[in-house]
Amino acid sequence: MIEFTPEQQAFAQAVRDFCAREVGTREQRARYNQDGPHSQELYQKMADLGWAGIIVGEEYGGAGAGNVELCIFLEESLRGMAPVGGIGPTFITAAAYEKFATEELKQEVLGGVVAGNSLSIAMSEPEAGSDVANLSCKAEKVDGGWLINGQKTWISNAAYATSILLIARTERTDKKHEGITQFHVPAGTKGLEIVPIETLGGREQNDLYFTDCFIPDEYVVGQVNQGWWQLMSGLNTERLILGAMQLGLAERSFDDTLKFITERKQFGRPVGTFQALRHRMADHATEIECTKLLVYNLAAKADANPTQMFPREASMVKLKSTEVSKAMTIDGMQMMGGYGYTTEFDAEALMRSAIISTVYGGTNEIQRDIIGKTYGL
Ligand SMILES: Cc1cc2nc3c(=O)[nH]c(=O)nc-3n(C[C@H](O)[C@H](O)[C@H](O)COP(=O)(O)OP(=O)(O)OC[C@H]3O[C@@H](n4cnc5c(N)ncnc54)[C@H](O)[C@@H]3O)c2cc1C
Repeated sequence: MIEFTPEQQAFAQAVRDFCAREVGTREQRARYNQDGPHSQELYQKMADLGWAGIIVGEEYGGAGAGNVELCIFLEESLRGMAPVGGIGPTFITAAAYEKFATEELKQEVLGGVVAGNSLSIAMSEPEAGSDVANLSCKAEKVDGGWLINGQKTWISNAAYATSILLIARTERTDKKHEGITQFHVPAGTKGLEIVPIETLGGREQNDLYFTDCFIPDEYVVGQVNQGWWQLMSGLNTERLILGAMQLGLAERSFDDTLKFITERKQFGRPVGTFQALRHRMADHATEIECTKLLVYNLAAKADANPTQMFPREASMVKLKSTEVSKAMTIDGMQMMGGYGYTTEFDAEALMRSAIISTVYGGTNEIQRDIIGKTYGL
């Protein structure tokens, strides 16, 4: 396990204290949750502390910190159940802008992220899910810019985001990975309609409909027709972000389950002292430790080798963290008996959040495929 520096330990404690202070009780969380899964009020407080720009470069007002600090922030925020649903998509998208956007766009968008704006990224389409390179939302060249027509689906945080990074088809060749380009689309752009999708977890995902939506040339992010390789270069960061978040969620499930089974008595003793539950908690603790090792090992490697891709390790992080959080939150509910099923406790909300993590960010079937291929299979 990498050793956290004293500064990193202090940072983890600061995020922990912030969550305890702001969202330590269900009543506090409910107040922030009133506007939906992303509380701008709470996120603004995080931004005011300099945390929203944690990985944004100092030249854009950010902290310029590394992946380890990023993971600490996400792990502790999720463990603290801070209702800032936009945090993951924002960090994933900001990393893409930082790598590929023009200087003007970086100043505007990354400066905005530091100030508390949130972002979203639009890749998936109804007919392009796991096979996302098959996307067909079209950007056609016109005088001074591009005309976008088509649909995106599942786009997290789009209804709150100040801008969306759109991945669209600019050319159709016989190779589907070619001819893809990234575009900056500010919220409120004419020709873009955003429609929330009702899900088990609320209304955090959205359909996006583009109808003759004009995007000027200066809003191309990176190079025309190079979007696929630009996307791939962000995978270390994307999977680390998802991994650290699911690690924090699993830890919260463990904390809550432990508290409940220590307090709940049946047959005259705490239910947690029955071996059936004690052994499962031992397994949960061990799974958390394994996940932590994978997450922070990759974070440290990526910090030491910023231009290197780690496809095997990144997919392992995504696979392990999400399988662990999903299994743990479901089993946590079982250990809480009927109480885990009520909305009086957080177990059901944690389960609803974890259960879909094995699907987004590349399904776990796809992650296993990637890992298998790195062994020549
Ligand atoms: C909550 C949530 C948030 C999301 N947020 C975003 C977002 O912000 N931006 C965005 O662009 N997208 C987002 N997505 C989309 C997400 O990335 C896709 O749902 C995901 O890639 C899977 O695509 P699909 O749902 O179309 O499933 P499909 O690709 O249709 O897959 C169906 C099943 O078949 C399996 N399968 C497919 N192909 C293979 C294969 N080759 N080998 C083995 N198994 C395979 C899958 O693993 C899955 O079990 C989000 C999705 C959800 C549910």
